[in-house]
Amino acid sequence: MFKERFLLLFSFFLLASAPAFSQDEDIFGITRKARPPKSESSIGNAFRSIQQMFSFQLATGAALYTMGTTFYKGDSKIYPITQYQNQEFEYYPLPDTLALSTRQWIVPTVEAGLRLNLFNILTLGGGYGWEKGMLNPFEGGQYQFSLEGEAYSATNYYASAGLVLYDASRRRFLLKQRYKRFNGANPELKMRMEREYQQRNRQNYPWSISVEGEVGKVNVIQGEPAVPKVYQPRLAATKDQYTYAGALRISYDLSEYASVFVKGKYMQRSFENGSSDFTPFPMNQEVYSIQTGFSIRTPGTKRCRIKGCGVVMKHNHNGVEYRGSSIFYFQNRKIGQWN
Ligand SMILES: [Zn+2]
Repeated sequence: MFKERFLLLFSFFLLASAPAFSQDEDIFGITRKARPPKSESSIGNAFRSIQQMFSFQLATGAALYTMGTTFYKGDSKIYPITQYQNQEFEYYPLPDTLALSTRQWIVPTVEAGLRLNLFNILTLGGGYGWEKGMLNPFEGGQYQFSLEGEAYSATNYYASAGLVLYDASRRRFLLKQRYKRFNGANPELKMRMEREYQQRNRQNYPWSISVEGEVGKVNVIQGEPAVPKVYQPRLAATKDQYTYAGALRISYDLSEYASVFVKGKYMQRSFENGSSDFTPFPMNQEVYSIQTGFSIRTPGTKRCRIKGCGVVMKHNHNGVEYRGSSIFYFQNRKIGQWN
C-alpha cells in the first residue's frame, strides 16, 4: 500500500514535469524540439537560456515570535529581574530556576534573493534578509526579566530548496488522467470531452504551490538603550548557529516572467543574552512569518524592436526568436486575450 502510494506520487512528479520540457521553455539551452535561438551567437543563446532560469525575488511582511528560556539563578549576581504582580502584598524569593517567555511582532521583514527553477519540480534559492523588532521583557512566575525593551535589527543569509507541489504542468497531467476515462465512451461524448480537454489544457493556469526548506545564519544588531541602565544585556545570535525554517509558498503568475506570491514561514533559532553582568543563557525563539512579494525573471528572449511589427506572440526574425509583449503579459496570447 505504501509502496503503491509512493510510486503514484513519484510518477506524479516525474511525468507531470515531462510536458514542461517540450513546452515553451527549454532547459540548459538543450531542446527536444528544435527551437529558434534567442541570439545570433550560440554562446549568447546558451547564456540567455540559463539566465532565464533564475528569478529575482523581493518580499516583505511581518512575523510574530515567541521566545522562551529556563533561567537559572546560578551564582546569584545581579539580574534585571523584577516582580510585577502582587508587589504590595508579599515578597516571593527568587526561585533557582524560572521558566520565562515573551512574544512580540517583528515589523517589517524584508527578503531579497535569487531562485533557480529546475524543470518546474525543484527550486533552489538563496538570499539576504533584514528585520526590525522589539525585545519585550520575559515574564514568568510573577517575575519580569527585562531585555531592555529596545529595538533591535537583524540580518540573515539563507539557502533554500523547494519542491513544487502543484502548478500548470501538474494540472495538465491531472487533466490528462481525468479525461482518459472517456476514451471508451460513445463517439459523440468522446469528441465533446476531447474538445473540452483541449480547451482546458490550453488555458493559462497561473497558480503554483510549493514547499521550501531553508537553512540560514542570523546576525543581531542591537540598538543602544535610550536611557543608560545599570546592566547592559547584550542580545546576540548563538555562535555557530544555523537557523532552520519551513515555508509554504503560493504564487500567481502575471506572465511567464513575473509573478506575485505569499509565503508563510516557520523558523527556529536561538539567541544568547551575552551580558558581562551575568552568565549568558540561551533563549529559543520560534518565528511565524508571513510575506508577500514579487518574482521576476529576465527573459531569455529579446523584445522585438522592429518598427511596424505588431506581432504579440513570440515570433522569429532572421531565425532568431523575439518577444512581442512586455514581460508583464503572457507571451502566447491569442486573439481576444490581449489583456
Ligand atoms: Zn517582430
